[in-house]
Amino acid sequence: MEEKDNNLERELLVMRECFRSGRTKEADWRRAQLKGLQVFLKENEVDIFKALKQDLGKHYVEAFRDEVGLLRKSLNLALSDLKKWMSSKEAKLPIMAVLSYAEVVPEPLGLVLVISTWNFPLALSLEPMIGAIAAGNAVVLKPSELAPAISSLLVNTLPNYLDNKVIKIIEGGPAIGEKLLQQKWDKIFFTGSGRVGRIIMSAAAKHLTPVTLELGGKCPAVLDSLSWSRDKEAALNRIIGAKYGSCAGQACISIDYLLVEKAYLPSVVELMKVMIKKMYGDNPKELHSVARIINKHHFLRLKNMLTDPMVQKSIIYGGSMDEDSLFIEPTILVDPPLESAIMTEEIFGPLLPIITLDNIEDSIDFINSKSKPLAIYAFTKNEKFRKRMLSETSSGSLVFNDAIIQFAADTLPFGGIGESGVGKYHGKFSFDTFSHYKAVARRSFLTDFWFRFPPWNNHKLEL
Ligand code: NAD
Repeated sequence: MEEKDNNLERELLVMRECFRSGRTKEADWRRAQLKGLQVFLKENEVDIFKALKQDLGKHYVEAFRDEVGLLRKSLNLALSDLKKWMSSKEAKLPIMAVLSYAEVVPEPLGLVLVISTWNFPLALSLEPMIGAIAAGNAVVLKPSELAPAISSLLVNTLPNYLDNKVIKIIEGGPAIGEKLLQQKWDKIFFTGSGRVGRIIMSAAAKHLTPVTLELGGKCPAVLDSLSWSRDKEAALNRIIGAKYGSCAGQACISIDYLLVEKAYLPSVVELMKVMIKKMYGDNPKELHSVARIINKHHFLRLKNMLTDPMVQKSIIYGGSMDEDSLFIEPTILVDPPLESAIMTEEIFGPLLPIITLDNIEDSIDFINSKSKPLAIYAFTKNEKFRKRMLSETSSGSLVFNDAIIQFAADTLPFGGIGESGVGKYHGKFSFDTFSHYKAVARRSFLTDFWFRFPPWNNHKLEL
């Protein structure tokens, strides 16, 4: 064991030396690695789809939409914008520094650690890596042990496409994670739970290492009464898709619960039942295109939420589950007790509690009584309500009339606030996350103002 630790230390030392030699800083090196990732995705697409099916039961269309397709898009953007991202930006200095030139120069942070999770095991491993490489860092990636097929594909195949002197993939679970955290890093980028996020942050504090923590929580959706039946159908279609249709609700920005006005509830529920039936049929368990719960532990966690006697009576649709195939039917609950686990913990599965309110505007107080979520979704056409939602709530992202689409936008920063996370990434924000913006100033020796240096006299200051 000790020998393994020493090996890790030695490997990291070599990576650091390689980084210091300037190997990763050249634009050509960055481009070659990003292209390597592109080729990896292309040449291994079939194996990637197989691995995602094996780990999570994801259909290849879902796998392409949420993982491979998004990564391709991010790589195209990084390659096309790299020169612009890497360029220094001229800055102005105050008059006191007359005859000067200043610029803001992005520089890589050094040796960075990326710890990833299992629900989008490919995308959440490689998306931060794209930013780290584009910014010119040496990278160690630890994928999640809970998606073993993807983890082993990343460990065994990806190195064939990358510069292994400065990019390493290390497989393992919490024990390996803890070993990695004992090392000194120039940045730790973590995706996962708040519980482990806290472990990461305290380990990072030892070396004052900056962290990005992409965490989770309970993302609310608010459904205002939409008078047009077409709008209502579009809203519910998107709500159902965002709740059940992305990794069976095991997504950090999935809708966790839905807030609806009491009077509006019966028509919402009736329509939802019809629409879920249309999407999932009469026997959803037999639908092999639907993602499964990741493992028995998470299956039982969800089962416990649902079989809590206080909660069971609030199930109004679905509720069936099959432990052997790790399947849980899309399920709707109405007004489960607010103190039950389903309303206090992140659900991370295909269970949708609907909470009824007397007035939809009460949703603002409801949301504000809980910790700041990663995302808020509000389906409304009421301009006044929209403005209130924007100015009176706080969340990583706020989307009106849709859900989850913000993840696919590389023009928007993706990240949480408060307990839902620290920092942001995607597109240029990923480059920024893995860069230090160095302030550089240069002066001519020609002249200086008298007031910069003592002794001072009684000249009148007119600045
Ligand atoms: P987790 O926190 O248990 O594990 C995440 C990673 O941390 C894994 O690689 C794991 O091996 C590692 N790890 C676990 N214990 C560790 C330790 N003691 N030291 C070092 N590393 C350790 O994550 P989870 O619970 O499996 O993931 C689900 C959570 O992730 C949910 O809360 C979800 O909302 C969140 N999530 C967030 C995002 C986002 O982008 N914000 C995306 C996906 C998931």
